Amino acid sequence: MTRLVTLLGKPLRRRHSQVMHDAAFAAAGIDARYELRELEADEVEAAVSAARGDEWLGLGVTAPYKRVVAGLCDVVEGEASAIGAVNNVTKDGDGRLVGFNSDAPGFRAGVERAMDRTLAGTAVVVAGAGGAAHAVVYACLAAGARSVTVGNRTAAAADTIATRFSGVGMGSTRGVVLGGAGFLDALVEADLAVNATTVGMVDAGATIDVSLLRDAATVFDLVYVPVETPLLAEARARGLRAANGAEMLIAQAAIAFERWTGIAGMDGVMRDAVAPLLADPAASA
Ligand code: NAP
Repeated sequence: MTRLVTLLGKPLRRRHSQVMHDAAFAAAGIDARYELRELEADEVEAAVSAARGDEWLGLGVTAPYKRVVAGLCDVVEGEASAIGAVNNVTKDGDGRLVGFNSDAPGFRAGVERAMDRTLAGTAVVVAGAGGAAHAVVYACLAAGARSVTVGNRTAAAADTIATRFSGVGMGSTRGVVLGGAGFLDALVEADLAVNATTVGMVDAGATIDVSLLRDAATVFDLVYVPVETPLLAEARARGLRAANGAEMLIAQAAIAFERWTGIAGMDGVMRDAVAPLLADPAASA
C-alpha cells in the first residue's frame, strides 16, 4: 500500500513541500507520496476524517485551514495550541489525530543558523502580525529572547499578538505601529529584525529600515520567493548577516517528516530537492 500525506489548503500555488517530501520518501525507501489537495471549507472535515484511514501517514495544513483543522484533531500539542495554528497532523499509537506546529521550531532552526547564535537573550523586532508572525513571536519568546517588539501596519493586530504571547518565556513583548517611533527605536537596539509580512513577495514596499540596525544585527526575511527580496539586498549591501525563509521552510518540513516516519535528518535531501524551485521564480509561481 502506498502511504499518503495530503496537504490541505486553498489556494495551493506552490510545489515546494511536495518536492521536498517526495524526495525524502524516495531517499528513505518509503513507499509514500505527498499530494496537494486544494479544497473548499465545507470539504475540510471529511478530508481530515479520511486521514484516519491506514493509507495516511498524516496531513499537511496551510492557509486558510490551520485553525479549523486544530478543531478537528483528537489532540492538539501545546505549542500548536499556544500559537493557534496546526500546520501538520500525525497519528499517535492509538490512531488518534495529533495536530502540531512545525513553523515555530522551523523558524528557530533557520534563524539560529542565520544568526550563528541562539535566540536566548536577544532583542527581536518582528514586522507583521499575521499567521507566520504568531509562530515567529512564540518561537523567539519560548527560546528565551529578551524582548520582542511586533510592528504591524494594522496596530490592533500587533497589540493582540503581543498580549497573546506575553506569558511565554521571560522576555517582554509589545505591539507598535509598523514604521512608527516605537518600531524605529526598537530597530536601533535589535539583534534580529524579522520580516513576517508579505511585503517583498506579493506586495511592494518596505518594512525594516536597515540603516538603523547595529552592525552585528541579523535580518531574516520569511519570504523565499523571490530568493533575494529588496530587504535582503539592502541588508547585504549594508554588510549585515541576512537570510531568506528557505531554511525555515526546509527545517519545518524535515521536522514534520520525522514526525510522520520516525526518520530524522532529511534537511540535506530536502534542500537539494527544492533548490531548483527556489532558484527559478517561474517554477515557483
Ligand atoms: P498573513 O497571515 O496574510 O499576514 C500578512 C501580514 O503582512 C500582516 O501582518 C499584514 O499586515 C502584512 N502586510 C501585508 N501587506 C502589507 C503591506 N503592504 N505593508 C505592510 N504590511 C503588510 O500572511 P502569513 O501567513 O503570516 O505570511 C507572511 C509571509 O511569511 C508570507 O510572505 C509567507 O510566504 C511567509 N512565510 C514563510 C514561511 C517559511 O517557511 N519561510 C512560513 C510561513 C509564511 P495587516 O495586518 O496590516 O494586513
